[in-house]
Amino acid sequence: KIVSYSIRDDEMPALKEWQAQHPDVEVQIEHELLTPESAAKAQGADGVVVYQQLPYDRATLQALHDAGINKMSLRNVGTDNIDMAAAKELGFQITNVSVYSPNAIAEHAAWLMGRLLRREPEYTAKINRHDLRWAPEIGREMRMQTVGVIGTGHIGRVLIDILKGFGAKIVCYDVFKNPELEKEGVYVDNLADLYQQADIVTVHVPSLKENIHMINDDSIAQMKDGVIIINVARGDLVDTDALIRGLDSGKVRAAGLDVYEKEVGVFNEDWEGKAFPDQRLENLLNRKNVIITPHTAFYTETAVKNMVQISHNCNVQLIKGEKADNLVKLD
Ligand code: NAD
Repeated sequence: KIVSYSIRDDEMPALKEWQAQHPDVEVQIEHELLTPESAAKAQGADGVVVYQQLPYDRATLQALHDAGINKMSLRNVGTDNIDMAAAKELGFQITNVSVYSPNAIAEHAAWLMGRLLRREPEYTAKINRHDLRWAPEIGREMRMQTVGVIGTGHIGRVLIDILKGFGAKIVCYDVFKNPELEKEGVYVDNLADLYQQADIVTVHVPSLKENIHMINDDSIAQMKDGVIIINVARGDLVDTDALIRGLDSGKVRAAGLDVYEKEVGVFNEDWEGKAFPDQRLENLLNRKNVIITPHTAFYTETAVKNMVQISHNCNVQLIKGEKADNLVKLD
């Protein structure tokens, strides 16, 4: 028996399909988040499946442990909200979904680039006030752009293929080179070279300590005048203050952001009629050369289905004592 916490309505079709394929597994659906209080609902189950930004702190893990549960499967990739020391101490086995659809995120990055190159936010503002004139928002073609891709893992790799379809020139950088891409000769040896060549800079690296604020005043200064910056990876990779300074000076022509440094508790909430808690977000949203999407790059039917079904498969593997896919190292 699995208890699936914080199941959203849009996840239900994928969960129902999975249940039909696994009649031997009882799934108890809970729409609320996993908290120290709601953990008691898992009493009598064999495992839990979860997805939330709230921390899986010691109190929550202890409450699950008290309910007899130590097998937890995340429907997402991020594990930074888990108290790893507590999880280890309490004997937890945890899985995540490390790859659910790199295409969802890569396509989103490509759309952001395309929308900015064709000046879509500016046209939309004009069209909304019934101004249907062309000038001065002349566009640029993707095939004329050199795109600098930082991080050529699952998502960066797919993005490169998409951009090649548009005829863009690719330069990329990764601390570990992908052998296939290496044959194509698209890697540069360092970020300074990438910044010097790229008309568009897009980041696809994890938010490791050493990567925080990798896009900062210094890196922006090394970029081409009029660069476009795309971040669909993690908010803290970009120093928001430095980005705002770059946009103010015109050094940065435009930016497309699906993630934001202070997005927790802000994205996926309705702020209509209310002030944002963060002035810098307001500042960015008011610009016609900035597109912000509220961490929706992953949010496609395919990705959501994979997140739901892979996580439940993993939880069954844990429960059956099989070697589980996507086992998270607890350290
Ligand atoms: P991945 O692990 O497959 O690839 C990351 C790559 O970055 C690796 O090849 C690694 O070697 C490289 N890397 C790490 N640090 C580097 C550095 N300092 N310089 C150069 N390269 C470096 O990861 P992925 O699945 O491609 O995901 C990439 C990012 O996308 C992650 O930050 C992830 O959190 C984010 N993401 C965002 C969404 C969304 O909805 N917006 C969804 C999923 C993932």
